[in-house]
Amino acid sequence: MPGILFGSSGIPHSAEGGDTVKGIQTMRELGLDAMELSFTHGVHLGPASARDVRRTSEETGIKLSIHGPYYINLFAKEPEKVEASKQRIWKSLEVGEIAGCDYVCFHPAYYMKAEPKTVHAQVRDILAELQGKLHDQKMRIRLAPETTGRVTQFGSLAETLELAYELKELLPVFDFCHLHARENGKFKRKEDVERVFDEVEATTPWLLKDFRMQVSGVSYTVKGERAHTALADSDFPWKWLMECLKEFGVNGVAICESPQLEFDAMKMRDYYKGLP
Ligand SMILES: [Zn+2]
Repeated sequence: MPGILFGSSGIPHSAEGGDTVKGIQTMRELGLDAMELSFTHGVHLGPASARDVRRTSEETGIKLSIHGPYYINLFAKEPEKVEASKQRIWKSLEVGEIAGCDYVCFHPAYYMKAEPKTVHAQVRDILAELQGKLHDQKMRIRLAPETTGRVTQFGSLAETLELAYELKELLPVFDFCHLHARENGKFKRKEDVERVFDEVEATTPWLLKDFRMQVSGVSYTVKGERAHTALADSDFPWKWLMECLKEFGVNGVAICESPQLEFDAMKMRDYYKGLP
C-alpha cells in the first residue's frame, strides 16, 4: 500500500440517515479510501448485512476496520467481566471477518491501581489466546489494541509497542490524539512527533509498512483525554503528523475520529497529498 489512505469513523455526515453500505459508497464518491465501523455501543451488524458490507467494500475498494465496544476491560477485578470483555472482542472479530474488515481495535484495559507490568502480562496472555483462536478458525482479521488517552488506561505508546513486539500478528492502532492527551499535550514540537516514528522504527519496524492510526483534535486535562474535537478546535499538531508520515515513508491508513469525520479526513488527505 503506497503512502497513506484516509477515511473516517462511522457513517459519514454526507451519508446521514444511510446505512453502512451507503456510508462506504459515499466514501468512494468523496475520494476517501477507508471507513471504520463503529461498534462502540455494541455489535450492531448481523451476518447478512455483514456480507452486503463486504461486497460493497470489494466493489468500491474501501478498506474497512472496526472499533470494538467501549465496555472492555481485560483486567477487570471480576472474572466474569474479563470473560464478557473477551466475548465482546470475539463477537466483533466474527462479524468483522464476514464483513472483510482488516482489524478490530479496542481499548484493552484499566490499571485498576495494579502494577502496569501485571496488567500488561494479563492483557498479553488474553490477546495471545484470542490470537490462537483466530488461527484455529483460519480467520484473517487482526486484533488491534489501541494507544489510549487516559492515565488510568493501559495502553501507553511503550506498552503498545511492547505488546506488538511480543505478539507479532497484532496490528496496533496508534491513536495520535490519545498519545497527545495522555501526556497532557505531548506534541509540543515537531521532534516530539518524530520521536514516535523513531520508537516504532526501533522496536517494531514492520508496522511502518502497514501503519494504522486514528487522528482527530482532542481536548484534555492532566488526567488525559476529555473529548475528541475537530482538528481546527485543538492544539493537536496534525500537520506535523502528516509531514512525518511523508518523511518516514510510512504506508498505512489514517482514520479520522473527529466530529467533522470525512471533512477533517479530506483536510488531512489534501494536506498530505500536497506535501513534496
Ligand atoms: Zn478508540
